[in-house]
Amino acid sequence: MIFAAALLAALAAPAHAAKLKVLATIPELADIASQIGGDDVDVQGSLARGTEDIHQVVMRPSFVTRLNRADAVIYLGLTVEHSFLPGLLDAAVNPKMRTDPIRECVGPGCIDVSEGVQILEKPETLSRAEGELHPYGNPHYNLGPQNGPQIARNIAAGFSRIDPAHAADYQKNLKAFLAEMDPKIAEWRKWVASLKGVKAISYHKDVAYLGKFTGLDFIDTVEFKPGVPPTPTHLERLVEEMKAQNVKLIVREQHFETKTVEWLAEQTGAKIAVIGVMANSLPDTKTWVKLQEKNLKNIVTAVTGKEPS
Ligand SMILES: [Zn+2]
Repeated sequence: MIFAAALLAALAAPAHAAKLKVLATIPELADIASQIGGDDVDVQGSLARGTEDIHQVVMRPSFVTRLNRADAVIYLGLTVEHSFLPGLLDAAVNPKMRTDPIRECVGPGCIDVSEGVQILEKPETLSRAEGELHPYGNPHYNLGPQNGPQIARNIAAGFSRIDPAHAADYQKNLKAFLAEMDPKIAEWRKWVASLKGVKAISYHKDVAYLGKFTGLDFIDTVEFKPGVPPTPTHLERLVEEMKAQNVKLIVREQHFETKTVEWLAEQTGAKIAVIGVMANSLPDTKTWVKLQEKNLKNIVTAVTGKEPS
């Protein structure tokens, strides 16, 4: 009888559904996806390596097979993955996710995590005047610690939409992630309290969200425009501007060259902080939290001369 009852219970239980197969464009989205997905999702890593320039990720043939077999792809959007995502979606021929000139990806498997994020530097009208790379506003919102919770909510919503049977699990994991993020964000806000109003520049225009979080006032970039390398005239003018405005900090994203940055520091006395634009870009930045922590630590240390704790 006991055996029969067990058999009946087994028959009544739903067949064990295969785990969702998920890819992320960048490593920290894969990290958040693992935390939200838990046991119900198989996160198969990221397409970009953390050390690359997100605007110039090289497409590797293995991406096509991985994308073809995936149930979902998680991406930042705003065309920041333009160098690799549309081409890969075309080549992968996966009916769950097709390329789209405006929305980047269309289909049930597309999880755009920019939904609900307050996008900065949004142009009034679509224009390429700021260079070719940021036509829909600043797409580097993964460098804003404040955006982690919304990204996580979007991933949970995406998983619940594709796999409603496990929606309760995703909500539970999201709650745990948010509970972990709240004290972190509060702690980080303390770290950066002394940075408010400090003038700074970055190499690429990817620090808008970091500026919002830290209070740093980013007044210019080493690049002439996003994606356009500096010219001698631009650098001369930049030195004058940095001196006139008393710029204290130069943020160099680790994938950009050091020579120009060191020269600018010599000319102006500004300190250099190196940041990563994706997880795995710098040592010990494997996760979303570790990436934010490392970037903030490097910046605070460069400006104040001591590490926050
Ligand atoms: Zn950019």
